Amino acid sequence: MIHDIRRWSNCLEMKDSAVDLCELCDSAAGETLWQDDLCRVVLIEDRDYPGFCRVILNRHVSEMTDLDAATRQRLMRVVFATEQALRQLMRPAKINLASLGNMVAHLHWHVIPRFTDDRHFPGSIWSEARRPGAPRSIDGAALKQELRELLQAVAE
Ligand SMILES: [Zn+2]
Repeated sequence: MIHDIRRWSNCLEMKDSAVDLCELCDSAAGETLWQDDLCRVVLIEDRDYPGFCRVILNRHVSEMTDLDAATRQRLMRVVFATEQALRQLMRPAKINLASLGNMVAHLHWHVIPRFTDDRHFPGSIWSEARRPGAPRSIDGAALKQELRELLQAVAE
């Protein structure tokens, strides 16, 4: 709880206008699969993109270069573990990694499993849809377990 309050106040301090709130400071923004003091991995509920995960920093920071090198590396280890877990479980044609933050300037990475028959392939998921998209699902519990094992293996 104290942690949440700290995140919240960081967010308000960092924003130019305190009118709108930062949704990534304000909520988990998905089903939490894994977390530590630095960041969390959440599973997004997206009908077209099962397995769509976000790795979200637990602080309101805007750019990767706002972090020191060790912290950057730690964050990317979590991003790569998420990629690896999704590859193992879903065998996608491609993984898309993206960090945009134009709408929400709170550091987060999208980790998106892509398939040749998905709604937008080979375009980005933010492009014009090309087809209805083949139905697919993800076993959230298995993903959680896989992530936990991978991240335990890389922990210092
Ligand atoms: Zn924030």
